[in-house]
This record gives sequence, C-alpha cells and structure tokens, in this order.
Amino acid sequence: MGPKGAETSPWALTILQARESLDSGRLSSRELTASVLDRIDAVEPAIGAFVTVTADRALEQAERADRRIAAGTAGPLTGIPVQLKDNLCTRGIRTTCSSKMLERFVPSYDAAVTEKLRDGGAVLVGKGNLDEFAMGSSTENSALHPTRNPHDTDRVPGGSSGGPAAAVSSGQALFSLGSDTGGSIRQPASLCGVVGLKPTYGLVSRYGLVAFASSLDQIGPFTKSVADAALVLSEIAGPDPRDATSIDRTVPDYLSSLTGDLRGLRIGVPREYFIEGIEPGVQAAVTKAIEVLKDLGAQVSEMSLPHTIYALAVYYIIAPSEASSNLARYDGVKYGYSADAGTMEESLELTRREGFGPEVKRRIMLGTYALSSGYYDAYYLKAQKVRTIIRSEFAAAFKQFDLLATPTSPSVAFRLGEKTSDPVQMYLSDIFTMPANIAGIPAISVPAGLVDGLPAGLQLMAPHLGEETMLRAAHAYELAAGHRMAPEIGQYCG
Ligand code: GLN
Repeated sequence: MGPKGAETSPWALTILQARESLDSGRLSSRELTASVLDRIDAVEPAIGAFVTVTADRALEQAERADRRIAAGTAGPLTGIPVQLKDNLCTRGIRTTCSSKMLERFVPSYDAAVTEKLRDGGAVLVGKGNLDEFAMGSSTENSALHPTRNPHDTDRVPGGSSGGPAAAVSSGQALFSLGSDTGGSIRQPASLCGVVGLKPTYGLVSRYGLVAFASSLDQIGPFTKSVADAALVLSEIAGPDPRDATSIDRTVPDYLSSLTGDLRGLRIGVPREYFIEGIEPGVQAAVTKAIEVLKDLGAQVSEMSLPHTIYALAVYYIIAPSEASSNLARYDGVKYGYSADAGTMEESLELTRREGFGPEVKRRIMLGTYALSSGYYDAYYLKAQKVRTIIRSEFAAAFKQFDLLATPTSPSVAFRLGEKTSDPVQMYLSDIFTMPANIAGIPAISVPAGLVDGLPAGLQLMAPHLGEETMLRAAHAYELAAGHRMAPEIGQYCG
C-alpha cells in the first residue's frame, strides 16, 4: 500500500504497532520521536499542519518516557508522539485557536485531555492548525496559514481540525486530538483518509478546550486505525468535576470491544443522507462500504430521519448564539490581543475588529441577532424546539437500529479557494455530521476508499454511549475493506 519503506519507518507506525516495538525494546521513544520530527521537517513545509512544533520538549519527554518504559511503569500512550489541536490548552505552550486574538496567548494550565496525555507519558510534538476558533470546514479560516491535504496539496484538508487530520495522514504524529462541534473531527478525517471519532457529549471533559458552542463541543481522536481510536478514547474519556456536563461513569476498555463480530447487528441507512448534491463517487464508495457491513453479517435496512433537513438551520442558530456569548470574553483586557484606541469602549471595539477574522465576526453577528429581544423566540427558542425533535427522532431510530450508516461528507476534498466566497456552500460540507452534535450522540468516520485518488469516509452513528458497538463495527469494516489510507503519502517524503 504505502510508499517504499514507509512500513518500516517509525513515523509510519500505528499506536499499537509502536507500543509493541517500544515495550519489546526494539524501538525507543527517542528514536520514534526523532523519526516523527524528521518527518515534520520533510513534509510540513508542503502541508502546514502545525501552528507550533515543540521539538525540544518532545525529545525531553521522549527520554522521560524511555525511563518509564525501562522501569516497567509505562501506560498505553507512554512514549507515543501526539499533536493537539491548537484550541486545547497546553501549559507554557501558546494556544492560539489560529486567531490573531490569541496569537501570543500562553495558558497557565493544561486542558483535562492534555493533563491525561501528559500524565500518561505521551510525547507532545506540537499544536495543530484549525479554522479560527474552530469555525469552518476547510482550515482556510485560520488567521495564521492554510493547511493542505496530504493526498493533493492543491486541496483543503477539511476543517476545522484540518491540522490534526493532515498531521496524522502525513505521518507527522501517531495521533492527534481535535474538537467536533458540527463535524470538525469527522469531516477532515474523511477528507484526509484517517479515522476520526466524536464521542458522546460529556464522555470526554471539555475543561481547557477553548469554547466555541458549549452544548455541541466534544473532544476526540484522529488516528490511523480504529483500534488506535479505541485505545485513545479509553485514555481520554472519564468524569471530571471541572466540566459540569461530564458523564459520571467508569470508562470501558474500548479495545476489548473490537471482536470483529457483526452478526445480527441492525444497521439503518437513513435515506435523507443520500440526497441530491452528494458526489456520485462518494455515494458509490459509501454504498459499497454498506455492502461490506452486510457481508459481515449485519442486517442492513433503509430507514428515514425526516427532520435531518432542519439540522443545518438549527446548528447555524444554536452554534453562533453560543459562540457570541463565549467569545464575549475577548475584550482586550484579560486575554490575548489588545488594541489601544483612546477610550475604553473604543479600545474594546478596535480589539475585536482587529483581533477576529471575517468568519468569526459573521458568527458573532448571527448569534447576537438570534439572541436579541424580539428575535429570540423566532430563532433561538424555535431552534431549541427543533433540536428536541431531532434528538427524539434519533432516540426512536435507535430503538430499531444499533447503528446508522451514512457518508461522512457529501464530497471529497475540494480545492483551496473553491468555497471561500460562498459561506453556505462551506456550511453544507457538514450537513451529514451536524445531526450527531445536535443529538449529542457518538459518531465515527472511517476511510471508505478513494474516489479519483481522494479519500471518502463512511460515518457510523450510535446511540448515547454506544461507542463500543460503533467501534466494533468500524473495526470489522476496516479489516474487511482494507482501506487504511494513512500513511500513503510518500510523495511528500522529499
Ligand atoms: N464546520 C462547522 C462550523 O463551521 C463545524 C465546526 C466544528 O465542528 N468546530 O461551524
């Protein structure tokens, strides 16, 4: 599959492969980390997946990890190189949200997930690029620089977690963590040919994730395989008193749920996800993927989720409303960029005018409008009511089905600049991913083959806390289909 020699280069390993090599002493974390850093040197100029590379710290952490492995106290992620989306707080390392507003912001604390990875001995190689404040579907809204798709550098990696998806796809980290508010893990994972998982709302603590839309945001992994996603999820999930929405429940060992057995599993295929506008190649790839699930013994039937068509409208009321409130804190006084313009009010206005990019301003205006008196009932309240309907529609569907299978994105990776002048076209990229955020349910994107050389993704959605079944099906599909795409991008080896 991959480029010559890729299979043997440490940067090309999955987490589980690297774990085996590290534990058996065939490879040290220092060697693995050095290999990933070399890979970053070689391909990053063409890809732009990072906002910050933390090479020196990474090598120090790798040495510490090697001591821990030698002492026999290693955990599953000890010594494994990871990248984090740059909206996850890292103590002492700047966390920019790819915004001018936070370009020089250095957090004084770690996000809950950063803390878990640090305690677990993972090696942070850097921070991943994103659409400013995670608003976008192509990473072109990054105020710092765009990220390019490793499968075709004229194309976008998707977004908003374009940096994480491109980094894992091009072997610049063994895994990465991103955030998903309306599709920001799954859509870029699909476009870059890697696995991306959005957990059940509340499964992973959001403490230290810079808030976009708090009732929709969830953190999840980007990996090269489903088994790696299961492993990372077990490491980052769990209750946290610092996030009031975190679910108080013991975390299962997700890896042990990957039995490969799909017999009798009931999978629904909602007709509303195979609409006009979906690229024929994507439709064909996903239809083929569903056939594979059937061959594995799943009972597949077509079904309907009639309120799906309202998901996009609901999202674009609720997400901007919450964003307008969350982003009110950037006033030039406490965090980040600060413009000086005479009076306090003028300074505040100028700070926000200069600190935020156009898409962020559009969201703040949309949200402020939807929440303003006189419009609140017509927009915000109504959107919340429709949200309840969408949630109950999913709940009813999951009485009959264990999982739902759909395309992740209606298209393969599009060209840079292709959708930047038409926000609605850009918003439509997430039409199949947003419903899961609105309902709070878990969903995963798994590579479903190439369409003219570009990856397509199969999305599986599960009921609330149904990650085990979802991972089991995704894993069985991955093994049967053999579409593990990354790291196939040897052409950028230099
Ligand atoms: N693309 C969607 C948006 O622009 C979703 C982003 C996300 O999930 N963070 O809002």
